[in-house]
Amino acid sequence: MPNPLTVLDTLGRPMRDLRISVTDRCNFRCVYCMPKEVFGHDHAFLPRAEILDFEEIERVVRAAVALGVRKVRLTGGEPLVRRNLETLVAMLARIDGIDDLTLTTNASLLADRAHLLADAGLDRVTVSLDALDDPTFQAMNDVAFPVSSVLDGIAAAEAAGLGPIKINVVIRRGLNEHAIGDLADYFRGTPTTVRFIEYMDVGHTNGWRLDDVVPAAEVLAAIDARWPLEPVDSAYRGEVAQRYRYRDGAGEIGVISSVTQPFCGDCTRARLSADGQLFTCLFATSGHDLREPIRSGATETELAEALRVIWTGRDDRYSELRTLDTIELPKVEMSFIGG
Ligand code: SAM
Repeated sequence: MPNPLTVLDTLGRPMRDLRISVTDRCNFRCVYCMPKEVFGHDHAFLPRAEILDFEEIERVVRAAVALGVRKVRLTGGEPLVRRNLETLVAMLARIDGIDDLTLTTNASLLADRAHLLADAGLDRVTVSLDALDDPTFQAMNDVAFPVSSVLDGIAAAEAAGLGPIKINVVIRRGLNEHAIGDLADYFRGTPTTVRFIEYMDVGHTNGWRLDDVVPAAEVLAAIDARWPLEPVDSAYRGEVAQRYRYRDGAGEIGVISSVTQPFCGDCTRARLSADGQLFTCLFATSGHDLREPIRSGATETELAEALRVIWTGRDDRYSELRTLDTIELPKVEMSFIGG
């Protein structure tokens, strides 16, 4: 395929990743993401007609790939509640120029679907799992879903060739701090990488307080005290997690320090919402409407031009600005990573 245009935003960042929310619905009610008080029975989810269909999503992806996107992640809501997701995966897998086609899922529906997704051309999965004991996991997901089914989903994904699997763990102070040791312990010695994510104020609906954030430095210090760690260079610009490996060779972990050490300077991600809005920052409160031009017949070149205009005007660095404004960084001893 021809070399893509290198489109840079106002801070010199290329567009490399596209995260596509294929649905705004989820079968979990994680307290830090879609709490029942906000996403209860009377919550108005998007009507079907407002959601991009697979052909429409494919057109956006083709335009984004023409501008340099190389990595596509399907997410949600819970992406596996979108019917026939395998069909979309197959459509995207055929696009020349995508190096990495991945899915982030709570794995509740993964055990039966993993082989279909792999057959359709999915490369990898990332599974969210916040604890290994049912009481804590269920306190997080708030729908009484058991850990064992998530582990079944992970095993099925591994067997279908969707590894190496990454596990996303959101740590919330007072709720699941013990999961740091439990999950590190459980996946140590396997090819699976556990990534601990700082709890963020995403969507402004989860009652976020800085006191609830367990800083990545604290997570690392806790693991390092038991199994010494050393840093691993990031694999590519824009890699979200900081990577560490066990000094005894038993594998890797990662931390995503979006609150205490924001990485806006390297953010190469664009996000497409289920109803076709393009967001240039996870924390943006408004997006750029792509559904209207798509539905009024814009060609792929016109869509690419619309994306180029949006991206070249991008100046988002929400997390960095918020950190400068509000956060006094915690002091945690971390001699092994140099302070
Ligand atoms: N339903 C899928 C899942 O559970 O993986 C995909 C969507 S979910 C929003 C994507 C990721 O965002 C999950 O790993 C979840 O833990 C993380 N996440 C959601 N809310 C968060 C928050 N407030 N802080 C940090 N991570 C969050």
